Amino acid sequence: MLMKPKIIVIHFGEIWLKGGNRRMFVQRLYNNIENALKDESYDKLENDRDRLLLYLNKRSDYKDIAGRLEKVFGISWFGGCTTVRSTRKEILDAVLKVSKGRTVRIEAHRSDKSLPFKSYELVSDLIRLSKKRVISLDVKSDDTVYVNAKTRQTYVSFDKHRGAQGLPVGVSGKAVILLSGGIDSPVASYYAMKRGLEPIYLHIHGFPSPDKKKLAKIYKVSESLRGYSPSSMLYFAPFHIFQGNALDIPRRYELVLFKRFLYLLAEEVSHKERADCIITGESLGQVASQTMQNLKASSAGVDQIILRPLIGMDKQEIVDMAGRIGTYRASISDYKDVCSIAIRGSELRAKAKDLDAICKGMGMKKVVMDTLKKSKREVL
Ligand code: ATP
Ligand code: MG
Repeated sequence: MLMKPKIIVIHFGEIWLKGGNRRMFVQRLYNNIENALKDESYDKLENDRDRLLLYLNKRSDYKDIAGRLEKVFGISWFGGCTTVRSTRKEILDAVLKVSKGRTVRIEAHRSDKSLPFKSYELVSDLIRLSKKRVISLDVKSDDTVYVNAKTRQTYVSFDKHRGAQGLPVGVSGKAVILLSGGIDSPVASYYAMKRGLEPIYLHIHGFPSPDKKKLAKIYKVSESLRGYSPSSMLYFAPFHIFQGNALDIPRRYELVLFKRFLYLLAEEVSHKERADCIITGESLGQVASQTMQNLKASSAGVDQIILRPLIGMDKQEIVDMAGRIGTYRASISDYKDVCSIAIRGSELRAKAKDLDAICKGMGMKKVVMDTLKKSKREVL
């Protein structure tokens, strides 16, 4: 049986720690972990040079805490840990204690080369003990005990969990995420957060009088992404102003025009919120509005950078990912989408200058600003 650890050791990726950003990155990770664990019981979170140590107490729920840590971006791995003085005897005792009742593989590493024993000597000691059946060892076991001997103390870690990888949310700035009721955009949001962007969700709804019940699905979707970010915001914008002004435009342009409207509105929100980019769930060629020509025409005239993390993914890959990150169920629940847009017979190769002319004719700038005024902003 696995013993409940007193400490969880948290390792962060090394690549992004180079240079002057280090302190800021580690501090952000520290804050994000504190935030993720705000409903959990533990004693303290300590910064220990190249790792963080989370001290648990009697009331700590290790499984629950591990589940939350698995969603914090910027962690490469974490696991249970005990720390002992760097003497051969204390290290061996600690290894025996954490491996009791299990068959383990040992990985030993000595960071301080001046310590009076070598890491292979520790392993030889353990092999000797396994012959006496004091410990059960197997090089093929996937239950690994890690020994990291340092000058001041030695870390003996076990029950290794893979972290979410990536960068701490917030270090790359903020993103306005165009969140629909579908499967794709929540996955795009996951990838944006993974690279350190803090999400500001923007959803366009088709209800004349929206309320929490009608928008329940969108709350559910954003809730399914909640564990990945320390904070997020949700904008609800109405569709009807755009709809009322787009009555006379050629039907085949409706979908591409709606996209242009989405981007322009997201751009205004990005200025208001000091965000650095727009994120969408588009993937090349998936539907009519996502041909290369249509993506190009609909984003023409939008100054804010638009990033599409799913651009090269197949639908099935996106669906699989939605399942893995926990957004799929919310994404397939019922919802009354903005559905009056003609998809059949849509233009596949829209031209930017045609869209420009349509936008001018319908007063797109005012449509966007009026929609922004009627939008509702919520801190999640
Ligand atoms: P998704 O699965 O994310 O709904 P989709 O395959 O249905 O995407 P589209 O409907 O063309 O494709 O939407 C493409 C992208 O445009 C979405 O991923 C999202 O980023 C944005 N989008 C679409 N509809 C809305 C909406 N009502 N509110 C906000 N953003 C939207
Ligand atoms: Mg959709």
